Amino acid sequence: AIILGIESSCDETSASICIDGTICSNVIATQAVHAKFGGVVPELASRAHQQNIIPAVAQAISDAKIHKNDIDAVAFTRGPGLLGSLLVGTAFAKSFALARNIPLIEVNHMQAHILAHFIDDPKPSFPFLCLTVSGGHTQIVLVKDYFDMELLGQTIDDAAGEAFDKTAKILNLPYPGGPLVDKYAQLGNPTAFQLPEPQIPGLNFSFSGLKTAILYMVQKHEKENPNFLAEHMNDVCASVQQRIVSILLNKLKKAAKETGVKDIAIAGGVSANSGLRASLLAMGEKYKWNVFIPKFEYCTDNAAMIAVAGYQKFLVQDFVGQDIAPLARWHV
Ligand code: ATP
Ligand code: MG
Ligand code: FE
Repeated sequence: AIILGIESSCDETSASICIDGTICSNVIATQAVHAKFGGVVPELASRAHQQNIIPAVAQAISDAKIHKNDIDAVAFTRGPGLLGSLLVGTAFAKSFALARNIPLIEVNHMQAHILAHFIDDPKPSFPFLCLTVSGGHTQIVLVKDYFDMELLGQTIDDAAGEAFDKTAKILNLPYPGGPLVDKYAQLGNPTAFQLPEPQIPGLNFSFSGLKTAILYMVQKHEKENPNFLAEHMNDVCASVQQRIVSILLNKLKKAAKETGVKDIAIAGGVSANSGLRASLLAMGEKYKWNVFIPKFEYCTDNAAMIAVAGYQKFLVQDFVGQDIAPLARWHV
């Protein structure tokens, strides 16, 4: 079966073709317009999706060397995300399915981040644990089957990606700052600055205290040395990144211990982080886990993960009708 996947939940317009479970194209139009505002502007995101969606789909079809009449079903991100952004992808998918008289498949974006692990080999086996770390979410999920997932813990305030982006803002780095913090961190000393590890019960997370601690730390040093940031950027980034990673992995370790599950995965934009990837691999070796880390292009938002999730739903004929509407909030 040939599935067209559509992703438009935030600021990436993406289209992908999946043929019998294999991804044959994955076109991602990133919206540069938000950088000068220091964050995603919802209204501008919707407009950019509107402009990008038809070219992205046309490119995905041509990259996969198929014809649009070959497509057997359309899978789209129903949520969670920005409502105006989701509406563009949803409306496109509904129109395409209606015009071609093919089935329509709804996909949960957070489930799709996890199901990105089924794009390439090696694939995790059920049940596995997934730490999903993205711009809007931080979750530990027990994945029992493709669409049977249990949320074991989540952030009570900021997401891990937000912690990276807000740190970057304090450090006067442009949006989205996560990848830049990562880049500088690789050149710095992670023990240069001490930052607190919050004591949050169970498998939940908190990152807002860290953000405040970083702000105070920078302000304190700048009082003595106005050039502090310029001189210590690498060390500050390395220290912040090490702390975010340790907060994430200590909870993941706890979840692995409590559930006894040995297949451990990470997903979402922050799973592109070099420090997280390296530390998870080291931890996996120590605890004899089978560790699963997505390819870089499947960490941040992409339609390949939507198409592959859609393919699994296609196999069980899990379709939706034309009355479907997007959801800004939607649990895994
Ligand atoms: P959600 O999936 O929760 O709806 P989203 O789709 O906006 O949110 P993603 O696209 O999955 O999030 O991830 C984007 C986030 O990942 C941003 O916060 C970005 O800074 C962060 N990120 C991307 N690459 C890295 C990196 N190398 N290191 C740290 N953070 C990163
Ligand atoms: Mg994004
Ligand atoms: Fe995402």
